[in-house]
Amino acid sequence: MSQNSSGTQYPSRRKRRRKKLVVAVAVIVVLLLVISYGTKRVIQTRSWQIAGELVSRVETDEKVVALTFDDGPTDADADAVLDVLEDRDVPATFYVNGKDVEGNPTTMQRIIDDGHEIGNHTWSHRSMAFVSPETVAEEIEPTDEAIRATGYDGPLTFRPPHGKKLLTLPLYLAEHGRLTVTWDVAYEDWSGDPQSTGDLVSATVENTRPGSIILLHPWFGRTATQEAIGPVIDQLKEQGYRFVTVSELIG
Ligand SMILES: [Zn+2]
Repeated sequence: MSQNSSGTQYPSRRKRRRKKLVVAVAVIVVLLLVISYGTKRVIQTRSWQIAGELVSRVETDEKVVALTFDDGPTDADADAVLDVLEDRDVPATFYVNGKDVEGNPTTMQRIIDDGHEIGNHTWSHRSMAFVSPETVAEEIEPTDEAIRATGYDGPLTFRPPHGKKLLTLPLYLAEHGRLTVTWDVAYEDWSGDPQSTGDLVSATVENTRPGSIILLHPWFGRTATQEAIGPVIDQLKEQGYRFVTVSELIG
């Protein structure tokens, strides 16, 4: 402790410096937490990205809805997914992975022949939040090429795996005038707990609104989801909904 002329004691310079250091470290820690929280929000938000146009639903009073299926396709699940749509005469939009397009040409051909829309969901389904511009191009361009090689000549929007994006991906999409499509209705349980088809159907139907984009993952033997497709369509049709592809919904 040092003393002034009146005898009052003040903390030493060393103690004051230590106090300043503690405050500075605390400020840095808080800033890092805010930045990391903000970054996480930017990566995960379904309705906004830093560049390029993104659609998660369409504002409309009309009872119109788009059914979208992510990943795959897989030949083993083709009938379970596509028969139910054919029986009900419902068009859907399939966000496919390049590697599975290449590996399952029969199913790709049926998706196209049945009149569905196709979207790009990257080649390998890797997370696209922290990737170089080269990786973005390597995930998107060969997937476009594989889809076009099947003879598909319709609209080709993009959906990132898990909806994740930060900087390089949106910048690429903006530069290439590419529309990003996410979703506003997704009720599959990814916690690892088994989910009944009934729970999935009721959550999906209850949360669908005019202009909604519904997301389901029916490939790779996901039978609860496969069995939900028919009831979701039937119950929404009963409520007066009409099904369109993503591009038709966006208009
Ligand atoms: Zn996916």
